[in-house]
Amino acid sequence: MNSDIKKTIAELLDETSKHGVKLIAVTKTVPTEIINEAISCGVTAIGENRVQELLEKYDSLDKRNLEIHLIGRLQTNKVKYIVGKVDLIHSVDSLKLGSAIDKYAKICEKVQNVLVQVNVSGEQTKGGVAPDELEALLVSLSKLKNIKVRGLMCIPPAEKIPGENKRFFSLLNKMMVDNNNKNIDNICMDTLSMGMSGDYRTAIECGATMVRIGTKIFGKRNYTEV
Ligand SMILES: *Cc1c(COP(=O)(O)O)cnc(C)c1O
Repeated sequence: MNSDIKKTIAELLDETSKHGVKLIAVTKTVPTEIINEAISCGVTAIGENRVQELLEKYDSLDKRNLEIHLIGRLQTNKVKYIVGKVDLIHSVDSLKLGSAIDKYAKICEKVQNVLVQVNVSGEQTKGGVAPDELEALLVSLSKLKNIKVRGLMCIPPAEKIPGENKRFFSLLNKMMVDNNNKNIDNICMDTLSMGMSGDYRTAIECGATMVRIGTKIFGKRNYTEV
């Protein structure tokens, strides 16, 4: 593996651990040999955004000390392939999806940890529940016994000016605090997944507990985002 990757991982682990933030290395399009080398450099959590790609890589990953996160959009019909295989699903944004996860988790006799994705920027092309529908969704999800909502996630647009996404990250933080204070049964959130290569420092300033970083570690990929 090229020594730049190693160096970047060391720097990011240092920077994130100083703030008590978990580094999730986003490994979409990255081959498993490189992912396993990143793991040997200290990466303890990876994020994939497509179920199919994750399944193809799954058996080859060095999973001894590894958390696997699903960070991309999840279709209800793919849920059965990943429940129980991933530590955290970041992209729950409907009761339909939450119920499907709950159903398969029950079959596997597991409780699946999830985050609720919030569309903080209101972009139509993006997944996530609208901010004003978050509370109702949390109330519904809280009744499902085999999922556990651990916190919130967002994907705002790339920052054009450093610090620009502060308003979105602060909003997500505030939504977590406000909803925790409502004492919804079974809802006690402590996880904020926000910040990518271009804006993770802004996100950490605003209280992120997990940052999802791909490009900064592995370089630019040739990939169409959904
Ligand atoms: C690709 C991706 C990331 C990482 O983005 P980079 O800009 O490459 O760091 C983070 N979160 C999600 C949901 C992604 O799909």
